Amino acid sequence: MSMLNEGAVSAALKSVQDPELGKSLADLRMIDQIRIAPPGTVTVKIDLPTHAYPRREKLAETIRQAVQSKLPEAQTVNVEFSIKTKGKDSGGALGLHVKNVIAVGSGKGGVGKSTIAASIAYGLTLLGAKVGLLDADVYGPSIPHMMGVNQRPEIQEKVGSNGQKINRIQPIEKDGLKIMSMGFLVPPEQAVVWRGPMLHQALTQFLKDTEWGELDYMIIDMPPGTGDVSLTLSQLLGLAGAVVVCTPQQVALLDAVKAISMFRTVKIPVLGIVENMSGEIFGRGGAQRKATEMGLPFLGEVPIDGSLCVNGDAGRIKDNFAEGSPARAALLSICENVAMQVVRELASGPAMPTLEIL
Ligand code: ADP
Repeated sequence: MSMLNEGAVSAALKSVQDPELGKSLADLRMIDQIRIAPPGTVTVKIDLPTHAYPRREKLAETIRQAVQSKLPEAQTVNVEFSIKTKGKDSGGALGLHVKNVIAVGSGKGGVGKSTIAASIAYGLTLLGAKVGLLDADVYGPSIPHMMGVNQRPEIQEKVGSNGQKINRIQPIEKDGLKIMSMGFLVPPEQAVVWRGPMLHQALTQFLKDTEWGELDYMIIDMPPGTGDVSLTLSQLLGLAGAVVVCTPQQVALLDAVKAISMFRTVKIPVLGIVENMSGEIFGRGGAQRKATEMGLPFLGEVPIDGSLCVNGDAGRIKDNFAEGSPARAALLSICENVAMQVVRELASGPAMPTLEIL
């Protein structure tokens, strides 16, 4: 009798490690189904934890080899992938259906934080994820401009479950993203005088009253430096983590260290550092050294290039991802690194959550 059955394949895969995550496929709950049909042909269905999972072929090859080395009767091994985004699903208390909320912060303004936040959001939609982009940078809300959004969100009156009328804000949909900006509510000249409690209330409403729908990721462009918004977010949601953006110079790195310590103080895990504007003007490599020194992942570097400035000004962040853009490869790799770091953070906890929203 042939030894080739589902149990044998499952046993052959038991200790196989995911090459990207360094944990077993079983622990990561990535094996969805094993089928043997026709005889001699094995199909393994794998759930990837994020649309941004890189180098799928390497994982497929690892699985093929593991099965065929232990079960020579398996003449053909097919590996099929589907995606089930893993996340903390922490928006329940606010009524949000968002798997992962990721903050993008910096120690000071002008380092390209909004550019990187918008790029991570857009890049993740390019990879197939459902993404929302929330501009919480009340002091300089530049997301609408960068995304080429010039209309205001509509507010609709709806009837809540208790029969009461409630206002729901429709986010602006652009380039596959759902976008909201606190700048829609806060006149720019008032923003500077906003204090913690007002910010807290506005941000809470913003998160609650917007029709975000079901999202794999919500990317939040944070105000630079201050801890107010981070504290609010940390109290309202269990964030997947924060990405810290800085430029390569020593002084900018010192600001980044402050941002990192601010996130740590409010208990938001730091996913890693992105170096923006690397190149001849500011140098390069400083952020990577700082990340190593601080025991944090380095998520990638984006070159300084006039086209990023032009695209941001023209409301065409998506052009940074066009074939031939000097930033395309770097930005896509940052999206992968951020999403995979989120999965690593989750996997380093007691067990991967099994809750599924979608
Ligand atoms: P922040 O959010 O940190 O204040 P922005 O994202 O608004 O920074 O970027 C500041 C300016 O720098 C913008 O004009 C933007 O287009 C430009 N910029 C951002 N990243 C780059 C880059 N890698 N190369 C060239 N210009 C950039």
